[in-house]
Amino acid sequence: MLNASQPPDLFSRFAGYTEANDLMKAGLYPYFLPLAGQEGATVRRSGRELIMCGSNNYLGLTNDPRVHAAARAALDRYGSSSTGSRFLNGNTDLHEELEAELAAFLGKPAALVLSTGYQANLGALAGLLTPRDYVLVDRDAHASLVDGCRLSGAKVRRFPHNDAEGLRRALEHLPDDAARLVVVDGVYSMEGDICDLPAVAAVCAAYGARLLVDDAHGLGVLAQGRGTAAHFGLTDQVDLITVTFSKSLASLGGAVAGSEEAIHYLKHKARSLMFSASMTPSSTAAALTALRILRAEPHLAADVRAKADYVRRGLTEAGIGTGDSTTPIVPVPVPDAVSTLAVWERLIRAGVYVNPVLPPAASPRLRTSYMATHTVAQLDRVVDALAAQPELRRAGDRVPSSASV
Ligand code: PMP
Repeated sequence: MLNASQPPDLFSRFAGYTEANDLMKAGLYPYFLPLAGQEGATVRRSGRELIMCGSNNYLGLTNDPRVHAAARAALDRYGSSSTGSRFLNGNTDLHEELEAELAAFLGKPAALVLSTGYQANLGALAGLLTPRDYVLVDRDAHASLVDGCRLSGAKVRRFPHNDAEGLRRALEHLPDDAARLVVVDGVYSMEGDICDLPAVAAVCAAYGARLLVDDAHGLGVLAQGRGTAAHFGLTDQVDLITVTFSKSLASLGGAVAGSEEAIHYLKHKARSLMFSASMTPSSTAAALTALRILRAEPHLAADVRAKADYVRRGLTEAGIGTGDSTTPIVPVPVPDAVSTLAVWERLIRAGVYVNPVLPPAASPRLRTSYMATHTVAQLDRVVDALAAQPELRRAGDRVPSSASV
């Protein structure tokens, strides 16, 4: 029953939210763009072809006929949905095949497949940690890692981006009797820089911390596709590796890899696994086939890095900075949010699709990313289009560290 004085209506906040409408009115709303069709490294929008420099399809496998054929065959054999959680009715031999082959590829004894990379991080972190534990998270770690830490109720400490000394200082102040986990990305999704894993792993070993690396952007890209831990020869020092299938593996889904014991535990504790339907048969088969292609054709990983190197060189020659990026993610700093959107809109008109990133996700920038399937002619057009934007030359070389997401 309501008192005489009414409580505030939760829904009254909708009318007060005008930010997106303001951008729409100015013709600068860059989100939820409906794209129709994809061919090679181009997409279609409103009947026009755009060179796609904003996709995580690093190896270009979303259009590979072998991936399509596997997805179709699984659709025909298992149906269009898994219709439930793996815990109960939604497990198939395909999910288990993918787990076995992924674990072997990553150099870990076992893996657990979940329905998205986001759910893999949520499941691994909230399944493992309790409010008694401490979790130390890089300041630029992906939002799904931050959300997983929050959901776990563990005591969260952020440390400065890619700063092992900052991590050491944070660990030093924890109570001796508290269990601790360090959480980093292998490749940072907004900066395109690689985690200083040798230094981070050494600090973890010295302070008795377990280490989780989210390798969403390292899988398929570093160390012939095997990822960041393999890149540094540190697979044994990383306790848990999480990955997504929505980037290099041309599908939808994610996984956690680790020891048999860890995976057995998470299988029975990860609520994002237990209380959500499993990957569809066709997405499981697509990821499995993409993984097999990557294993058989490791040059794909080198190809995508070479394409990004080519763009970085071109941008540097044009006086445009790309921060600390050494991977297919190439951020281009822009002085402020308004020019980010203005440049984004001009690039779309020039036939180039990039992602505008605004605070609080990160400092203003264009997040550009490259694929093994980009042609040199396309990359030349992209560099020329970026070089023609005066705001980008003014922004300088630094991409300031992201705000926390
Ligand atoms: N981790 C990182 C670093 C990511 O960039 C992303 C997706 N952008 C995810 C996890 C989540 O993956 P998914 O899209 O499969 O949910």
